[in-house]
Amino acid sequence: MAQTIPVAVSGPFPRSLDYLPPETDTPPVVGARVRVPLGRRQMVGMVTGPPRDPGLAGHRLRQITQVLDLQPLLDSELLGLISWSARYYHHPIGDCIATALPARLRQGYPAEPASETRWQLTPAGDEADIEALRRRAPRQAALLDALRSTDDLPAGQLAGLGGDARGALQRLVERGYATAVERADYGLITGRGTEGAPALNPEQAQATSALQPGAGHQVTLVDGVTGSGKTEVYLDAIARATAMGLQSLVIVPEIGLTPQLVSRFQARLSAKIAVLHSGLADGERLNAWLAAGSGAADVIIGTRSAVFAPLRRPGLIIVDEEHDASLKQQEGFRYSARDLAVMRAHRLECPIAMGTATPSLESLANARAGRYTHYRLTERAGNARPPQLRLLDMRGQPTTEGLSAPLLSTVRQHLDNDGQVLLFLNRRGFSPTLICHECGWLAECDRCDARYTYHRGRSRLHCHHCDRETPVPAVCPSCNSVDLRPLGLGTERIEGALQTALPDTPMVRIDRDSTRQRGRFEQHMAAAQRGEAQLLLGTQMLAKGHHLPAVTLVAIINADQGLFGADFRSPERLAQLVIQVAGRAGRAERAGEVVIQTHQPEHPLLQTLIHGGYPAFAEAALTEREAAGLPPARAMALIRAEAPGQTAPLNFLKAAAATLPTDSSVEVLGPYPSPMERRAGRYRAQLMLQANQRGTLQALLTDWLPGVSALPMARRVRWSVDVDPAEM
Ligand code: ADP
Ligand code: ZN
Ligand code: ZN
Repeated sequence: MAQTIPVAVSGPFPRSLDYLPPETDTPPVVGARVRVPLGRRQMVGMVTGPPRDPGLAGHRLRQITQVLDLQPLLDSELLGLISWSARYYHHPIGDCIATALPARLRQGYPAEPASETRWQLTPAGDEADIEALRRRAPRQAALLDALRSTDDLPAGQLAGLGGDARGALQRLVERGYATAVERADYGLITGRGTEGAPALNPEQAQATSALQPGAGHQVTLVDGVTGSGKTEVYLDAIARATAMGLQSLVIVPEIGLTPQLVSRFQARLSAKIAVLHSGLADGERLNAWLAAGSGAADVIIGTRSAVFAPLRRPGLIIVDEEHDASLKQQEGFRYSARDLAVMRAHRLECPIAMGTATPSLESLANARAGRYTHYRLTERAGNARPPQLRLLDMRGQPTTEGLSAPLLSTVRQHLDNDGQVLLFLNRRGFSPTLICHECGWLAECDRCDARYTYHRGRSRLHCHHCDRETPVPAVCPSCNSVDLRPLGLGTERIEGALQTALPDTPMVRIDRDSTRQRGRFEQHMAAAQRGEAQLLLGTQMLAKGHHLPAVTLVAIINADQGLFGADFRSPERLAQLVIQVAGRAGRAERAGEVVIQTHQPEHPLLQTLIHGGYPAFAEAALTEREAAGLPPARAMALIRAEAPGQTAPLNFLKAAAATLPTDSSVEVLGPYPSPMERRAGRYRAQLMLQANQRGTLQALLTDWLPGVSALPMARRVRWSVDVDPAEM
């Protein structure tokens, strides 16, 4: 019987499908894309292995329609990583591959970068008598001169030469003096490498000495407060990798963080830099991806999915802000870019650095267990002093829109001393709730178990969970009263209060509403950095990464909302946020002050954080997780299900749970409704599985899930597996 070729296609297929080789005599290589029939459609699939004996007898086999790549698009290293992640996250291999590929390649476009026409000197042009030409045709001679002084001339530069350069060039081509060549144009950023590196301090030197490109696998946790010089450690290691001819892959959590990192890399590194993130046009993304795979790029900086960038000559991986939740994809293929980066470095036998001011408890546990080497950077460069954290007891204080009188007077003090002030509130809009003062009616989203956020500027109610928007009702829909009142605080409301309390103080608000327009965020940040705005007000967009050296006061307007979250990770997230925001202050000569407004000044979390800093908090939190048997002390997976009706998800999960082996050491919780049961019109439920050993949980999932897929009820819900869930 004829052998078949395993092809992964996007869809709910746990494994690759079998296809007969194409009519052509050369079967496709492993890692090449092919076009295959599926039902009545043609799909782009990926060859995942060598020809094999077909699995199912009697099954009518179909044939590959077309081979799209003659060379492997994914090499064995990358295909191996993706296959590993498909098994670990129990997600269909075709979907995993689709996540790894830029859209253009998923759609079947050729794996070729954009190209550019360039003009080159021919040997005849090299020998031509330029003086004779100068007398007869000065423009052609000038062009010939230009061609002689460079390797090749981009067509785009012709216009800059003045006059009818195109006509002159045409003549040179006719004379056989010049010829056109097509060059790949990957759109790379060329590092100038003009700026010198500072001498590293002993702590930095220790951390960077652990990052030896080409010298085997080692995970280094670079744990240092903001401004302690983590980026300098990365730069040092990247420069060494580049000098050795090895590529560095740098993963950052947010697109917003890439421009400033790129410009810093550009100034410091003599290297070609490719940028990979979702804000790029499809063509740009394809070019950057191919530049990584061809080796044209020395440094690849990208967000989450860049962990799947192909690498021709890998040497070093860096994950910045490793604690950041956005490194985990929260839908579909729920992978953690941080964890996969560690796995990839392990498979590549290359070093990996993970940097943060607030290590995740997962990474700290790995450091404790000796799997990661933990380096602390405790000094701030340029003798910048660490900020002083202080709790401001809100109880009984007079307040204006959430701003207590003592806070306002501290703000005034700093402004009077020419300091810049940053106010942080993790909630945009005017108020998180709109309530009827007569009858207590609440404006609730009719598709979610959530309230609408009131946006006064736009005069809209907006659900931040499903994105639904509706006009603000003129009267209460329940009692017809006109007395509808905003309840709670959002950045828009604080902005108004600040304008009243501190008129004439230039202020900028930075949140998702104020930065909707392209380029607005950069504009606002630049105004903040130049010191044009003295008051900065914003959400966590403000808290991340950006250098704001003039900030002397950071105020966290409301710490209480984070103290009582339903998720077991809420305290960790709050502590990280407080420390990250605090890190904006006191980077320059002046020590910063950080004020945290709270009604719970005795709360142990806040007390530990104030007196012991993040390390003390993390220590206590890890002990608590161990006692409670929660990650990272134990391994966890969630089976999530959702459907338009309330009962189907729970019933499906009950049926699935009933097929679990009874003799397993895996602990089962639920099924139970998700913390926000209804979202975007769908009811959601989950089943939680926990085990002391990762391997135990994995083995159970591998045995059990195929049967779950086969349950009749599985077709009535949308369900997925979330291994190492980051959100409950
Ligand atoms: P982080 O990434 O930890 O926030 P950075 O690497 O951005 O810290 O360093 C903060 C500032 O201190 C930068 O301006 C950087 O150039 C400077 N810096 C870092 N390390 C040194 C050093 N060893 N000597 C002098 N300046 C340094
Ligand atoms: Zn009412
Ligand atoms: Zn909603």
